[in-house]
Amino acid sequence: MVECEVLIVGGGPAGSSCARELMKAGMDVCILEKEPFPRSKPCAGWITPEVFTDLGVDPADYPYPLGALNRLNIHIFGVRLPLPTRQYSVRRYEFDAWLINLSAAPVRTHRVRTIRFLDSHYLIDDAYRCRYLVGAGGTCCPVYESLFSALRPRDGESRIVALYEEFPCETPHREGSLWFFDHGLPGYAWFLPKAGGYLNVGIGGKHLGMKRKGRTIRSHWEAFTRKLEEGFLLTGHPYSPRGHWYYIRNDTGPTRLGNAFVIGDAAGLATRDMGEGIGPAVRSGILAAREIIGKRPTATRGISRFSLPGILLPDRGRPW
Ligand SMILES: Cc1cc2nc3c(=O)[nH]c(=O)nc-3n(C[C@H](O)[C@H](O)[C@H](O)COP(=O)(O)OP(=O)(O)OC[C@H]3O[C@@H](n4cnc5c(N)ncnc54)[C@H](O)[C@@H]3O)c2cc1C
Repeated sequence: MVECEVLIVGGGPAGSSCARELMKAGMDVCILEKEPFPRSKPCAGWITPEVFTDLGVDPADYPYPLGALNRLNIHIFGVRLPLPTRQYSVRRYEFDAWLINLSAAPVRTHRVRTIRFLDSHYLIDDAYRCRYLVGAGGTCCPVYESLFSALRPRDGESRIVALYEEFPCETPHREGSLWFFDHGLPGYAWFLPKAGGYLNVGIGGKHLGMKRKGRTIRSHWEAFTRKLEEGFLLTGHPYSPRGHWYYIRNDTGPTRLGNAFVIGDAAGLATRDMGEGIGPAVRSGILAAREIIGKRPTATRGISRFSLPGILLPDRGRPW
């Protein structure tokens, strides 16, 4: 039996940020992660400046290619609005591996299946025992499923489905573009060139909104890729997109139960307007760690529900 004080299930941005904060405080931490890193994660890889601020890292010190998005082309009802902003783009394959290394926490490759509570401790797969348990396993987090699903039920209206693809591509179009509500999509599509010669294209929207209109994410994807082809943004690419789903913020219950926590996508914390999940994952990880360390009560109060104010006024930052 492996014993530790805090066990974190999942080594994405939420779990790694939490682990890093706990390690800095000298706590005995272990991350259980089902996949060896680096691993790919369905994501556009857009991050806000606050992600670096929250991590206390200067973007100039990020060791991989970091895209600066100083302008975003917003397309809405056929009108293009060039929007000055200050955002970043990363590849999750690199960013997540960097962050888990930065945490300096021990990581074990293990897919968590069962969780039991016994003698004031949590028993994981009868192989790990801990006093504090942090669920950072994303949408399908076993900590959420075992301990929180009845307390913090997920609401179908908050379910986002998405399709994306990231691939090497030296496109001459260097600016990021977003298309809102195209063909009645209850969400948006993106075209995001990355530093280092990659391109990320994708589409995401509310599952129930699409279903009510008799549409699917796949039919929206076909319309979107046709638009890229006809607009000469991307021609002749043999697409093979990957899909995933997650939940935007809808606080239906607690994120702490006894000494167990859920953070990031496990808690359904992505912003309501843009489905931004990396920033909320990082911040919720740090807040949960601080609560474990005993610095201050956390909950989700310091985590923004909306991204647009930060995109429109990027230099104001978002307070904790
Ligand atoms: C297509 C798409 C595009 C997106 N684009 C953006 C974007 O541009 N910007 C943004 O801010 N957000 C974006 N999001 C949302 C963002 O990806 C998530 O909100 C974010 O990854 C949440 O981080 P997390 O650490 O909570 O979970 P995850 O990143 O999902 O990490 C969870 C980790 O837990 C591990 N795990 C899962 N189950 C187990 C288990 N049983 N045992 C052990 N380990 C386990 C997984 O392997 C994974 O490494 C996008 C989402 C999608 C689907």
